[in-house]
Amino acid sequence: MELNNSMKIILDDILKGKKSVALGGHVRPDGDCVGSCMGLYHYLREQYPDIGTDVYLEEVPEAYSIIKGTDEVKTQTDGSAVYDLFICLDCGDAQRLGFSSPLFENAKETLCIDHHISNDAFADYNYIVPDASSTSELVYNMVDRDKISLASAEALYMGIVHDTGVFQYSCTSPETMEIAAELMRKGINGSEIIDKTYYEKSYIQNQILGRALLESMLIMDKKCIVSVIRQKSMKFFQAQPSDLEGIVSQLRQTKGVEVAIFLHEISPQQFKVSLRSKGKVDVSEIAQYYGGGGHVRAAGVTMEGSSHDVINNITARIALQLKHEEEQDDEQ
Ligand code: 5GP
Ligand code: MN
Repeated sequence: MELNNSMKIILDDILKGKKSVALGGHVRPDGDCVGSCMGLYHYLREQYPDIGTDVYLEEVPEAYSIIKGTDEVKTQTDGSAVYDLFICLDCGDAQRLGFSSPLFENAKETLCIDHHISNDAFADYNYIVPDASSTSELVYNMVDRDKISLASAEALYMGIVHDTGVFQYSCTSPETMEIAAELMRKGINGSEIIDKTYYEKSYIQNQILGRALLESMLIMDKKCIVSVIRQKSMKFFQAQPSDLEGIVSQLRQTKGVEVAIFLHEISPQQFKVSLRSKGKVDVSEIAQYYGGGGHVRAAGVTMEGSSHDVINNITARIALQLKHEEEQDDEQ
């Protein structure tokens, strides 16, 4: 079932009679995933005290620990619990829930709140708005805004900040700015949230970013930039996968480049691929083609083979799209 209007009433309706609710987000949780889950977690705990609400996420990256309640996140489950409702946030498909997916399967009812264009509405109730800046913005739309607490506002603000690249990306709408303003009026310290969760980098993060930039290469007539970080570099710098966040956005900033491709070797012959586009290329189409997903300008996928194979496969799809675009330009 698709949800669109009067989100508040529908959330109330869905929660009616429920005694237990679980929230879950995607593997390797990012700022919007943590922000939307924690924002809704605080809201449900405060406004629906009779419902037992739990939140399940993989280990929350250190930078996001300024968000209240992240120490209450459950990082493990034996999968046997049966919740009345499982709410899946910022997650384009059920597999991306990772360790919490058995809880999704077992739950009596499921609700998905998401903004990925690749989302195929896999829950019982689906509130999916691909144009929305972030899942955190959608959570804001679903709740009674007058009842949003400071803790919830801080979490939602962080989510919006992260998925808009600090209000920079084209997904930032006037409504996004209005919501951010409302959240500011709750008394949050917006500049601290931006600085501590988005811009501040550990020494390790900066070193590995430097390595990725230094070893990056321009390809496809300088329309693409590509960089690879291998397991041996991760070991050398003692880096965690979450330390790589932000590298692909930095690569994308290169002048003249249309697409940035970042490969992280997660095991021999297996790469987590992050794609970012400036707009001409729909990277979600490419990620979906190879089994991943995401947004038009930011997408990801896990691919097997050598780094050369992976890059060749990705660039072949980019070339197809660029060729198609040139043909359309010629026709005009
Ligand atoms: P990132 O490159 O930062 O990991 O992800 C960019 C976007 O693509 C995010 O919105 C993320 O949720 C989505 N994404 C990344 N990897 C995958 C994947 O393997 N499958 C799907 N469905 N989406 C992904
Ligand atoms: Mn998101």
